[in-house]
Amino acid sequence: MDNEKILKKFDPEIFDVVKGETNREHSTLELIASENFCSEAVLAALGSVLTNKYAEGLPKKRYYGGCEFVDIGETLAIERAKQLFGADHANVQPHSGTQANMTAYFALANPGDTFLGLNLTHGGHLSHGHPINFSGKYFKVFHYGVNPETEIVDYDQVRKLALEHKPKVIITGASAHPRFMHFDKFQEICDEVGAYQVADIAHTAGLVAAGLHPSPIPYADIVTTTTHKTLRGPRGAIIMCKAKHAEIIDKTNFPGMQGGPLEHVIAAKAVAFKEAMSDDFKTYQKQVVANAKALAQELASLGYRLVSGGTDTHLMMVDLRSKNITGRDAENALGKADITVNRNTIPFDPQKPFITSGIRLGTPALTTRGMKETEMKKIARLIDKVLTNMGDANVYENVKNEIKELTQAFPLYAERRKIYDAL
Ligand SMILES: *Cc1c(COP(=O)(O)O)cnc(C)c1O
Repeated sequence: MDNEKILKKFDPEIFDVVKGETNREHSTLELIASENFCSEAVLAALGSVLTNKYAEGLPKKRYYGGCEFVDIGETLAIERAKQLFGADHANVQPHSGTQANMTAYFALANPGDTFLGLNLTHGGHLSHGHPINFSGKYFKVFHYGVNPETEIVDYDQVRKLALEHKPKVIITGASAHPRFMHFDKFQEICDEVGAYQVADIAHTAGLVAAGLHPSPIPYADIVTTTTHKTLRGPRGAIIMCKAKHAEIIDKTNFPGMQGGPLEHVIAAKAVAFKEAMSDDFKTYQKQVVANAKALAQELASLGYRLVSGGTDTHLMMVDLRSKNITGRDAENALGKADITVNRNTIPFDPQKPFITSGIRLGTPALTTRGMKETEMKKIARLIDKVLTNMGDANVYENVKNEIKELTQAFPLYAERRKIYDAL
């Protein structure tokens, strides 16, 4: 393509950013559980002239002329999302997961209403009612957590808090919880206290679509998800809901929360949903879970304690206290050896959120490159090598060399890199 040539000529600084990031993604081990590598087809839709179009409103009900093509794109995205998840209704316009949640909350509740959400330090998300987030400022939020023994969501505590505080909304789903969320159990509690369930499957949407994680669709009033995590689409989000909430969701999103939709991103979402309906995608998600189990098992055998003892999903939480390392130090050391992870609080973490006692590891990105259980075991040993030799530059260098071999054996965006290099 000539796009790259044009960019390089007009703005070499930004071209170098794009090239540098592409090379970084190829040459490092990406273990951040919320990241993935989308396809060339998704990138093609993202980088298209659809970005030029104003299309406030919904397909066939726009406030601008000239929407005949974006109408087709957005309708395809809506219909594919509904089919993929079995939802009554979908709105594909939210710019991000946090904005999708904003729409969901304001569709069902008013400022000052009471919510229940998972504690951030137990695996929840900022947008589930943290005091520094809009969700914690506009709503009165109480938090449930995990059981101290099992480190799995404590449904008895959820019920107790729900009976006590009578929330209007119970937010379910998580960012750093390695086990299944049982949306049916949450719904029983919602029904008992007359609360709405907003299920946020930002992390597990790909697994849900592939039938590998319980789906909230039959239970929850509203389901939000990002499209760029396990779902492997463009950065963005969608909202799905029961038919009875369709009108209020659409109205709350626009004109309530957003202006013009990003039609290039919506087209890319449609492409990702088409990919997610394929058998290849199911095979991919199965491998994501198998890889997470393999990585978790090998880390456990090397003496690392895993929160809740393991994983059902694409991610695991590693407690580093037995190794006397903080999450921050581990993140920095692993980064120096080309292994990208994020530090994360573990339940009942004695350290501050900026330091933490844990790291969160996920397999969606590495699995997209084609890595399997054998590589996961090798990676667990490389992680251990770094973490048991903190500050030893020679060890980092050795690990880096092994990673170079691994990344070369599982290349990423090879065609794209070749074009960039030739310019
Ligand atoms: C990632 C995530 C989000 C937020 O997505 P952004 O697009 O970063 O705003 C919301 N909820 C959960 C549970 C997430 O993991």
